[in-house]
Amino acid sequence: MENLVDRLHKNRDLPDDELKTLIEEFVAPPLGARAAHPQILENADRIPALPQAKPESFAITAEGNKQEQELFEKADRVRREHYGTDVYIRGLIEFTNYCRNNCYYCGIRADNQSVERYRLDGDEILSCCKHGHELGFRTFVLQGGEDNFFSDDLIAEIVAEIKALYPDCAVTLSMGERSGDAYKAFFDAGADRYLLRHETANATHYNQLHPGGMSLENRKNCLWNLKKIGYQVGSGFMVGSPYQTSDFLIEDLRFLQELQPDMIGIGPYISHRNTPFHDFQSGDLRTCLRLIAIIRLMFPRALIPATTALGTIDGQGRELGLKAGANVVMPNLSPVKVRKQYELYDNKICTGEEAAECRMCLENRVTTAGYKIVTHIGHVKKGETHPRHNT
Ligand code: SAM
Repeated sequence: MENLVDRLHKNRDLPDDELKTLIEEFVAPPLGARAAHPQILENADRIPALPQAKPESFAITAEGNKQEQELFEKADRVRREHYGTDVYIRGLIEFTNYCRNNCYYCGIRADNQSVERYRLDGDEILSCCKHGHELGFRTFVLQGGEDNFFSDDLIAEIVAEIKALYPDCAVTLSMGERSGDAYKAFFDAGADRYLLRHETANATHYNQLHPGGMSLENRKNCLWNLKKIGYQVGSGFMVGSPYQTSDFLIEDLRFLQELQPDMIGIGPYISHRNTPFHDFQSGDLRTCLRLIAIIRLMFPRALIPATTALGTIDGQGRELGLKAGANVVMPNLSPVKVRKQYELYDNKICTGEEAAECRMCLENRVTTAGYKIVTHIGHVKKGETHPRHNT
């Protein structure tokens, strides 16, 4: 009988129970484990009891290891079929850490009084782009909290300026939820791509991660709007976020099949000391790697980053992510003086280096892992959609 990995490779899909086996079997820690958690108790009525981890799920058996290796090897083979050894680089500009939202997991949430807030002005953003262009970047990712200071007009103006100065570059935006009109204005100004993780496709789980006023419905509407406008869209989720179960992860994969995004960003949840979730344990490396590989097999042409969060939970996390099927890295182009202030989670790496050092460090890591950084614009390679959604 063909094993699960072979069938996932061939069919680009598996039934839920088999996907679940691939996600969770033989993997060490329970997902979303909960520790004592004083601040969140006020929301206790919204929070169901955590499923208990099966004791056997702590054991990593020889059979499990073999299956895992096969999963990573197949995922790597598929990425090579479509992208060879190319790794696309994106220059990340974290342009504001002001945020009006209060996501329970995020270090720059509005209620975190201990964050020193900053925003870059238009000239500072352009200067990051200039430096980035000299270093070979051909995509700039403007990421920030939901900061009302940056009006729709101001963002459109900044995008237009970047595109006028660097017509050979793509501009990616990642600034959360805005109106359809705003997304359209940014697109008309020249923005090419938009990253908006759905965070979780389960509405109950979404409400456990976010306060009232934020909704999965709105998040999804934004993603559909972005798609309709014509952006290359990226979505994704954290692995091991509080209260996450493998059933929720399956729902995430099913939502991604529906959305068919061009980019899929996943990384471990990592706790931050000044959030209501500070006592939750962070997501684990192996589950992340398995999910990257599963996603590569389900979405052969997707752009999948080996994230900074993956590099934060393990010194070799990004290299392992590449070997499990990821094909994008995002070196930091933000001015060093603000890097530490964009602290989404504790011990975030790459906060002390100059852009050139950061790029060089990642280039070395990518080469050591057996891949090659390419400096072209790095659009997604378009192909057929998943058979489930061709009808
Ligand atoms: N405000 C924009 C948005 O909501 O999409 C972009 C910035 S937001 C900080 C970028 C991403 O950081 C989120 O989509 C979330 O998945 C991730 N993130 C936030 N807190 C995190 C944490 N504690 N651990 C891991 N990832 C986190």
